[in-house]
Amino acid sequence: MILPKSQRLTPGQLSEVTAIVTEFGCQIQPIIGAVRTIYAIVGDEREELMINRLEGLSYIERVDRIQSPFKLMDRRSDLATHRIKIGGATLGEQLFVIAGQCTIDPKNPQFFLETAAAVKESGAHVLRGGVWKPRTNPYTFQGDVKSLDILMEASRRTGLPVDAEVMDEAQVQLALDAGVHMLQIGARNALNYSLLRAIGRAVAERDTVILLKRSLHMGPISEFISAAEYIAAFGNPSVILCPRGTSPALDGYRNHPDESITPLLKERTWAPVVVDPSHSVGKAAYVQACALAAIAYGADGVCIEAHVSPSQGIGDDPKQAITPAVLADTIRQAGQIWALRHAAEAD
Ligand code: PEP
Ligand code: MN
Repeated sequence: MILPKSQRLTPGQLSEVTAIVTEFGCQIQPIIGAVRTIYAIVGDEREELMINRLEGLSYIERVDRIQSPFKLMDRRSDLATHRIKIGGATLGEQLFVIAGQCTIDPKNPQFFLETAAAVKESGAHVLRGGVWKPRTNPYTFQGDVKSLDILMEASRRTGLPVDAEVMDEAQVQLALDAGVHMLQIGARNALNYSLLRAIGRAVAERDTVILLKRSLHMGPISEFISAAEYIAAFGNPSVILCPRGTSPALDGYRNHPDESITPLLKERTWAPVVVDPSHSVGKAAYVQACALAAIAYGADGVCIEAHVSPSQGIGDDPKQAITPAVLADTIRQAGQIWALRHAAEAD
């Protein structure tokens, strides 16, 4: 990883640096952070002579060699100062909340528009709404591209940025063209490396934020962080890690709750952690406790399914969406835990 003395290399400096690494069979990938751009060396960056020649250039501060499978997302990376900003929030500096319906019902758009208004009122920063849905049963509602218009209309009315899951490249393009601010990679696709690459490529030069769910079957923490690295390696490091429960389920819950991995993630990566309690426990009655536990564990925020009238919702909403009143109460209590945690850390 090459750190220039200035905030970014000039085109002339970049071609000089590129020429040097090319001699050693490597390539340069610029990673655009919030403040400065750093330059990843793709290939074997341990070659002593290459490092010496790069460090000999007057405009290079230093070349870091992090021995990590996720050198960009690693806590020790120079990207660790990168801050993700969306919906008026800077992750890590305040409690961050994504909320909204599991699924937008294209036949009843008023529900989503009302939910959106309630989500805004609750103080959440990003509005979520499922346009395309990964469903276990192929004969159930799979989502509808018409919902994309409803999502963007809700964004215009509330002023909130929006998050939607994408499952293939065509959906990625449609979502980006429509102006979706946050692309969600679902639990079923978090290990789909060609999709991770395609998304990384598509958002490389945009300020789109990625919400990467933890796969149902992910074991080692490094597997999760490496999935984020796949995206960041194309140039956009704004990836949020989202634990959402894993398989096998804990009897009575939808999945095995995994908010407790937050401190482990925090130890190894600088990436913000935003826990999804809704899919983790899978039942509205348990969502608040799980959300509050996530903040106590050190999460930067939560992603919660909420609906103005859960029983009239579709997808997961009838069973796991909380009402706007519970959402507002959850955000209030989570804010208190956040404040306590930060006061304790400051001591
Ligand atoms: C969702 O957010 O509605 C969803 C399908 O999530 P996951 O990929 O975590 O199952
Ligand atoms: Mn859902």
